[in-house]
Amino acid sequence: MEYLKQKIKECGVVKKGNVLKVDSFLNHQVDVRLYEEIGKEFYRLFGNCEVTKILTIEASGIGIACVTAQFFNCIPVVFAKKSKTSNVSDDVYSSEVASFTHGNVNTVIVSKEYLNKGDRVLIIDDFLANGAALNGLIDIIEQAGAELVGAGIVIEKGFQDGGKLLREKGVRVESLAIIESMNDETGEIVFRN
Ligand code: 5GP
Repeated sequence: MEYLKQKIKECGVVKKGNVLKVDSFLNHQVDVRLYEEIGKEFYRLFGNCEVTKILTIEASGIGIACVTAQFFNCIPVVFAKKSKTSNVSDDVYSSEVASFTHGNVNTVIVSKEYLNKGDRVLIIDDFLANGAALNGLIDIIEQAGAELVGAGIVIEKGFQDGGKLLREKGVRVESLAIIESMNDETGEIVFRN
């Protein structure tokens, strides 16, 4: 995805603490043409996997997941909600997710109504860092007895461990851009080929 890499190079801002800000085209203002290219690419990668549902986590994953779903014949998108309390009801699957960007732990929930045994689930998210978000979503898929097809990630920070550990566990992780290194002083971003 050359257009994605070009956008990251041109508009991405490297912040302290290994955070890449991509607010001008992905996380706040949205480049819809880019979202479309991303969705098309996820369909090219997972289109033959008989996916029945796309699962993501609020907030940044939702738009990407919805545009992607259009390429999958508009299958439903379910997003895990960040719950204010850890006191969750019997009607939901829940998991604990440590937030990389906010430094807190969220309980994330999905209603049992919307994820079932027999579902073939594709996870979509904007970033992969340490893998906490993906592991939480995988936990929820397992609780539902559904099947994980794989994970489509827009930007993976390859210098953090999440992707490596998930692939070692046998999860199919497809990242459209993998960052090998980034420097908050020079602003330099290097991609893995
Ligand atoms: P992980 O759970 O893999 O450690 O981090 C992934 C989640 O944290 C993503 O859902 C994303 O929202 C957020 N995240 C992690 N790293 C970054 C980053 O460098 N920039 C932005 N904008 N979000 C990030």
